Amino acid sequence: MTISELDKKYVAGTYNRFPVEIVSGKGSTLTDSCGKEYIDMGSGIGVTAMGFGDEEWISAVTEQLGKVQHTSNLYYTEPCAKLASMLCEATGMKKVFFANSGAEANECAIKAARKYAAEKKGSEYYTIISLCNSFHGRTLTTLAATGQEHYHELFQPLTPGFMSTPANDIEALKALVSSVKTAGIIMECIQGEGGVLPLEDGFVKAVAQLCKDEDIILIIDEVQTGNGRTGKTYAYMHFGITPDIVSTAKGLGGGLPLGAALLGEKVENILGFGDHGSTFGGNPVACAGAISVFSRLTPEFLEEVKAKGEYVFETLSGAEGVESICGKGLMIGIKTKKPVGDVISACIEKGVLCLSAKDKLRLLPALNISLDELKKAVDVIKEVCSE
Ligand SMILES: *Cc1c(COP(=O)(O)O)cnc(C)c1O
Repeated sequence: MTISELDKKYVAGTYNRFPVEIVSGKGSTLTDSCGKEYIDMGSGIGVTAMGFGDEEWISAVTEQLGKVQHTSNLYYTEPCAKLASMLCEATGMKKVFFANSGAEANECAIKAARKYAAEKKGSEYYTIISLCNSFHGRTLTTLAATGQEHYHELFQPLTPGFMSTPANDIEALKALVSSVKTAGIIMECIQGEGGVLPLEDGFVKAVAQLCKDEDIILIIDEVQTGNGRTGKTYAYMHFGITPDIVSTAKGLGGGLPLGAALLGEKVENILGFGDHGSTFGGNPVACAGAISVFSRLTPEFLEEVKAKGEYVFETLSGAEGVESICGKGLMIGIKTKKPVGDVISACIEKGVLCLSAKDKLRLLPALNISLDELKKAVDVIKEVCSE
């Protein structure tokens, strides 16, 4: 059997894979089992923040592997403590809970919001409000938070106590908050899976104010937008707000599974011994890799991310076959005249790997993609759109 046949026979059929078997990568270039090369504009859905074969990341990870690969959370390890301090110093958040994925980071955020509200206002204040068209994960609870009905249908009953309201409609949100006993509001500053849709500046600020006024926990889901992706360390920083909880994952580990819930002042001590946990969370190898990624998100590096994003915007906006382009930094959504599936297939043919989000082409290249690779990929996308 070929690898794709073996995979189809034995791996659960939850993924509709492209007919590409990847064997290795260097920088932002991947090589398949036939020796064909691709420029990677998806970075494993925003995960491989520093690309492939990155020496600094590899040596951080392998050095830690050579020391100890796992300890459980019964003991202290340096990478876990150090990474937590870096995340707090960069954000002003106070404490970090480490998980292994975005969904798990959100689970922690939701538990923290509910416990805070229960202690502060009473256990009937449990509702978590999210936005329509959002995406917060695949567990039964984070699916409940995900404001897209089609994800819910087959898995009822989901965790109760979740409601959604339209993005950018502060009056609708206020009306909901005044009629429902609310623990928290969760939102992405740029809805990623929903189609790379940035929230309006005024809406984000108004939500933050509402949360402050009503003592509601504001959870910003930075699983996709975080860790330099949009040209700031976290996307909420574009809006001048301070969330109560920031959840993140994807790019944080640079390719190893790592999620984190950053807990702000209000909730820093809300989770005590035994309230939450994870066997793998804060794994020293994953944290060592994350330190290598996170320590490179300097102002100069983030300026480069912004400049690369602007290059993509400038080259593709108004190009033939491109209807619109949205996003921030290196999180970019492109509405193409052609169906996005056709664009992606044609790009694969021509050696470029892209993502989709709803009906848009979505680009999430490695943050350190070389200008040369970026230019080549954008040229291919431009050509494919115009054909
Ligand atoms: C990907 C994503 C998640 C889920 O992350 P997993 O690691 O797949 O659990 C949650 N929220 C947002 C905004 C995401 O983009």
